[in-house]
Formats: sequence, C-alpha cells, structure tokens
Amino acid sequence: MKKYMPEPFRIKMVEPIKMNTKEEREVFLKEAKYNMFNLKGEDVYIDLLTDSGTNAMSDRQWSGVMIGDEAYAGGKSYFKLVDAGQDIFGYEFIQPVHQGRAGEKVLFPIVMKKGQVAISNMFFDTTRAHVTLSGGKPLDCVCDEAKNPAVYADFKGNMNVEKLEKLILEFGRENVGMIVMTITNNSAGGQAVSIQNIREVAAIAKKYGILLNIDAARFAENAYFIKLREAEFKDSSIKEIIREMFSYADSFTMSAKKDAIVNMGGLIGIKEDAELYQKVKGTCISFEGFITYGGLSGRDLESLAIGLYEGIDENYLKYRHAQMEYLASGLMEAGVAIQNPAGGHGVYVDANAMFPHIPYYEFPGHTLCVELYKEAGIRTCDIGSFMLGNDPETGEQIQSEFEFARLAIPRRVYTQSHMDVIIEALTEIKQRASEVKGYRILWEPPILRHFQAHLEPIK
Ligand SMILES: *Cc1c(COP(=O)(O)O)cnc(C)c1O
Repeated sequence: MKKYMPEPFRIKMVEPIKMNTKEEREVFLKEAKYNMFNLKGEDVYIDLLTDSGTNAMSDRQWSGVMIGDEAYAGGKSYFKLVDAGQDIFGYEFIQPVHQGRAGEKVLFPIVMKKGQVAISNMFFDTTRAHVTLSGGKPLDCVCDEAKNPAVYADFKGNMNVEKLEKLILEFGRENVGMIVMTITNNSAGGQAVSIQNIREVAAIAKKYGILLNIDAARFAENAYFIKLREAEFKDSSIKEIIREMFSYADSFTMSAKKDAIVNMGGLIGIKEDAELYQKVKGTCISFEGFITYGGLSGRDLESLAIGLYEGIDENYLKYRHAQMEYLASGLMEAGVAIQNPAGGHGVYVDANAMFPHIPYYEFPGHTLCVELYKEAGIRTCDIGSFMLGNDPETGEQIQSEFEFARLAIPRRVYTQSHMDVIIEALTEIKQRASEVKGYRILWEPPILRHFQAHLEPIK
C-alpha cells in the first residue's frame, strides 16, 4: 500500500460524529426508502456522498466570513472575488452565482436554441438536466479508454475528438448549441482531461463556430494531473496551467463547492464577449439576485475569493492527490476493482466487477452504496444507471457506460484512519458479494430521479 502523505495543515476545530450499529443502520435504510439522499447526515459515520460543499474551510476563510461586505450593490467582497477570478482564469467577466447549476440555468438558455444538441466529454447530472431544460439534447462523447475501468490511462476524461467532429457533421453545425468540456470528467470517475485534448476540441469548436464552455468544478485537480502527466507542463505552475486550460474556451460554469473549498457558491466566467455577459447579467438578476452578489452573502463571496487561491496551492494539491492514491492502492491490493487511476476527488469502485450477477436495471452501483452504509456507516452515491435515469423520449431505463459507487472525498476533512475504515469495509463486502441482491424502483420523479426515488431490495 502507498504511504500516506502527511496533511499540510493541523486541526483547530473538531466536529464529533455519532457511531451507530449495523442493526440501527438497517432501520435507517428502510426508513430512507433505500435512497442515500434520504438518510439523515447525523446517522452517517463517514460521509462520502459528495465532495460538493462538504469541504473544511481554513482559518483564513473563516476570517473572511467575518469581514464579508454585505452591501446589496458594489460590495468590497464582490470586487475581491472578481479580481481573484480574473487573475486565476484570465477571463474578463466573472459572475458569481449561488452554485454550479445556477450558472447552468443562467447561461445555457442564452447560448442554446431549442432543439439543438450539446456535446460533452461527459455531462454531469445537473448539467445534463439543464441542457434538457433549455430545450436541448445532451450527447456524451468520452474517449474509449474511459470505458475500461481496469486499464490505466493518463487522461481517461478526454473527449473523443473524432467522434465529436462526426457528431457535428451528422447533426449539422447549426444544430449544435455548444460543446462542454467537463474538467475533471466527473461522471467518468473524476478523470483527467489533457491540454492537448482541450486544444483539439477548441480547434473543432472554432472551425465550426460553436461555443466552447468549460464545466470547471474541478479545474485545480485537473491542473495538478496535467502537471504530473503531460510532459509539456511539468515545470509550469498550477496557475500557468489553469490559464492555459481556460484560454481555449469561450466561457465556463463552475461549482465553487468543489475545488474552491467553500460550502456554497458558483461562478460563470466569460472570456471576452461583452454582449454575452450583458445577457448573463440580465438573467442573473431575475434568478439569482443582483450582479454583485449573485445569490450569495457577502461573506460567501469573501471566503470564495480566498478559497480559490487555497485550492490551487501546489502543496495542498499534492496531499489531496496522495490521499486518493492511498485509498486507491489499498483497494486494489484488496482486489477491489476501481476506475484506474483514482480520480482527482475520489475513487470510483467498479460495481459491475463487484456484482457481475446484478444487471444494470437492478442498479449494481446503488446496491454497493447500500452495502457500504450497512457495513460501516459509509455513505456514497451511485454513478451509473440509477443516476442516469430514463430516456426522456421512450421512458426506458438507459444503460450507463459504467456502474460505479463513488467514494467522493471531502477536502481537508478525513484522515488516514478514515481511509483505512473504507478499505476494510469494501474488503469485507467483496467477500460476500455473490450473495448480495439488487434493487428496484418503487417511485421516481421525472427528472434527476436519483435524488428522490424510493427503492426496495429484490428478494
Ligand atoms: C457539482 C457539479 C456541477 C453542479 O454544481 P452544483 O454546485 O452542485 O450545483 C456541475 N458540473 C460538475 C462537473 C459538477 O461536479
């Protein structure tokens, strides 16, 4: 097993967590209709449901909470945030919003026309939903390497560039509303996207005159992967790499709840198109609030401006990456199959490999989530057919390319011994995997169903 890299911080404040028994957890699961999102946070021992907004802010960020400027218009914290965004991303216009999906809700209906398709290396679930809500059709176009979890590749998050161009020609340039590069590629396992790939995608976007938007939730973790794995950038600073990545796109939408290490926040960035920014401001005022707070408190803007810099600190990123590698190597040594390599924000356990006897429509990824909670009070979520949902046209269950249980690791929250508990729990489940049965849906809402659906175990 890899050595655990010591944390580049010490603990100043602690949050006690409740321990409970297997018997209690069985009851909680039943009450939650076997949906991880219905469990109470206080009944969870290690919460790996998401790395979104679950991060630990630093003493500096908490100081920022105190000095946040709550002016309705033109607050100091707003200008600090815009300065940070312009400095890090090199974009002229930075618009705060309350979270990533708010950015999608504001931007997508402006740049897309009804009936158009949007093509991504892989859409995240809310991003996919907002393309649909804008009257568009989301298409995934990830590289082939991503589809084979067992085989290592440096940049499994990449777009399949050949297929992208084929899709544009097939649908016709005028029917493609935008191209979205998700970095890192969350749904493929938090996998890295190379600058080379972004360059090639940008060249195609330019050739056909299509807007290129970056879904930038994990821009810093992606930059660190580029530094490690793309020779051209081995001596570049993280900030130089980020500037390079963003220079190829026209705009970005970003959930700041991930790499900007805050609990709430998001950004829209527009490189230089003042007309587009004008439209964004208008929609933002209707949905999010005035331009200079965008659905956030002044204190949120302040801690976000600070977090953006902490999230790109190389020592922090080195530790963060090493924590994932420790968890991944421990699991692989125990024979637990994962999307290889570890993602930037977590390890994606291959539930198809764990439960080859459970078909996609009985949700192997979700099944593994339930088992992990039963076993050790660990909460995770499905990245697979359960999350993907039904085809909006036919109503039939879509089969996902993957069936993962995602171990998303909150930033600066858990220690080495928590990682060891996770490894032990999965080792235990693997030993009884052949007896585990899948799940069926009892009730589901029409969109983003995995957040609310009710399930029951198949007898
Ligand atoms: C989290 C996330 C979003 C949505 O952001 P929220 O802050 O949860 O609304 C969009 N895209 C990706 C890749 C994400 O990880």
